Amino acid sequence: MNKDFNFKVNKTDEEWKEQLSPDQYIVLRHAGTERPFTGEYNMHFENGIYTCAGCGEELFDSSSKFNSHCGWPSFDQEIENGKILEVRDESHGMIRTEILCGSCGGHLGCF
Ligand SMILES: [Zn+2]
Repeated sequence: MNKDFNFKVNKTDEEWKEQLSPDQYIVLRHAGTERPFTGEYNMHFENGIYTCAGCGEELFDSSSKFNSHCGWPSFDQEIENGKILEVRDESHGMIRTEILCGSCGGHLGCF
């Protein structure tokens, strides 16, 4: 997935599998296979900084989090320009924009 990008953090599928919990691995590296609305952080609105579970990069402030109704945590603003990548996704018969960590390419959400 997303072979067109050069990420700061590049790991093989096997390395990610070792580093991440099974749930994190599925969400971050195989976006879309987790059923929506089951994510750990979905519908949580605590204060704080959200970091990428894959590489630890700070990505969002919780003040920008909102409920997108797409089943994934969503944010309307990245914490700093260039932290995230937006990728248009027209698979699954619908058009949405997938949000990826700009550092490691992990799947973060969509809108
Ligand atoms: Zn990352």
